[in-house]
Amino acid sequence: MLIGIPAEITAGETRVAITPETAKKLKAQGHTIRVQSGAGVAASVPDEAYRAVGAEITDAAGAYAADIVLKVRCPLDSEMALARPGSVMVGMLNPFDPAGLQRLAAAQLTSFSLEAAPRTSRAQSMDVLSSQANIAGYKAVMMAADAYQRFFPMLMTAAGTVKAARVVILGVGVAGLQAIATAKRLGAVIEASDVRPSVKEQVESLGGKFIDVPYETDEEREAAVGVGGYARPMPPSWMARQKLEVAKRVAQADVVITTALIPGRAAPVLVTEEMVMAMKPGSVIVDLAAAQGGNCPLTEADKTVIKYGVTLMGQTNIAALVAADASALYARNLLDFLKLIITKEGALKIDLEDDIVAACLMTQGGEVKRK
Ligand code: NAD
Repeated sequence: MLIGIPAEITAGETRVAITPETAKKLKAQGHTIRVQSGAGVAASVPDEAYRAVGAEITDAAGAYAADIVLKVRCPLDSEMALARPGSVMVGMLNPFDPAGLQRLAAAQLTSFSLEAAPRTSRAQSMDVLSSQANIAGYKAVMMAADAYQRFFPMLMTAAGTVKAARVVILGVGVAGLQAIATAKRLGAVIEASDVRPSVKEQVESLGGKFIDVPYETDEEREAAVGVGGYARPMPPSWMARQKLEVAKRVAQADVVITTALIPGRAAPVLVTEEMVMAMKPGSVIVDLAAAQGGNCPLTEADKTVIKYGVTLMGQTNIAALVAADASALYARNLLDFLKLIITKEGALKIDLEDDIVAACLMTQGGEVKRK
């Protein structure tokens, strides 16, 4: 099959959907690989590295003329115009954007969005949300440490003792766990909150302290378990008690990293304006939920702002700031997904009996098929 990889043109997108490692593997399976010139440059992959593993370097039209197009982001209108009707597109196409899905359907694309893969063991190797959230959690700590004008570790020096930074992590999924591990390695003291009961043990195993907000009703207990590994909105009673506990920790914190998300909905507000006002000057908040409205109402998407003496960072595509590794992991996710839709003989086979294929299918035959 002809597999095409266009350069991403969405603003701020530095990742690329194929690396020389995955190109080599696809080539070994008998496919022809066409990469748009410059597609990997922002991820530190020059054209020459693709050529060296047998990929062809082409222009955008050449990449979109393929049977299967590998993307990072949902195509913009100008990219959609190049797409070949009947071709397959695989990427992070945003299953929660009905207008975007309509455009993919209108372009007659068979499209798969890997954010929709189920959270099962079999789907783990193609879980793009996890691979990219892991990177975002790490980089959020790096960004916070850079903006924070004090040390993270406790230091005893001849000139006196420096206290360890207090880091509060709100939302402990994949990004939050990596943020805890990274901040811990830098020597910070960590407290973390999540709605899901299973998280307490994970936080403690990484050396953090869990902010316990006990459940008081069956409704709270049931909501906390979530569905399919994801959180559901919690009842207001629990949110109110969580707010009191979080407010105390945030007032003492030097760095707050928020990652709380509920798929398909606006992010829950966990750090209010009053809480920011009560923070120490020079504190830093990194809001990883900025693309979904933010866990703090003062966050501004894709900006770093200072309010009440607190630095708020609202970058919406943090994984793209670690472009080389984010691309390496993402490209491996795609490679694993392709095994589900390409037979050993190298033919396209869309088996809707396969739960991962069915869940990721967004459009086919001019229609939106999202489950
Ligand atoms: P996510 O990015 O959707 O959300 C981040 C975190 O925010 C979650 O832990 C969620 O519980 C939390 N949250 C939501 N509302 C909150 C609130 N009001 N207060 C505090 N926290 C709140 O989640 P994610 O990182 O994609 O993963 C969620 C879970 O799924 C994790 O437990 C993860 O380990 C699990 N997971 C399983 C698999 C698998 O089995 N294959 C793969 C990936 C993730």
